[in-house]
Amino acid sequence: MPYIKRFCISGSAFWGWHTDIDLDDMDNMEDIIQIVKQRLKAWVDVAARATQQDDMHGLYKAIEDLTLNCHGVTFGDILVSDPETIFYLCHCDHDHSFSSDADLDTHTD
Ligand SMILES: [Zn+2]
Repeated sequence: MPYIKRFCISGSAFWGWHTDIDLDDMDNMEDIIQIVKQRLKAWVDVAARATQQDDMHGLYKAIEDLTLNCHGVTFGDILVSDPETIFYLCHCDHDHSFSSDADLDTHTD
């Protein structure tokens, strides 16, 4: 039985791009972020083939350079979330503070 959740990129040139992932195939957050980037590359592949553009190196580099974070959310949180929940993957390489989300579970430290 598939266990699908939607993940949406927020930030970067790919803001708004989303993909649905079956969590049965995933073991942790790193797996999710890896598959999001793989599918984003595959999506560019499709566009490149359809338009016979083989010079999309900048776009592939931009995907390589994406550092995606699902702040304040653990893999366990995603597993038990409501079916309609969309998870936003932030493009950044640092921790934000969640001053306005004091009730967010933080599992760090
Ligand atoms: Zn961030």
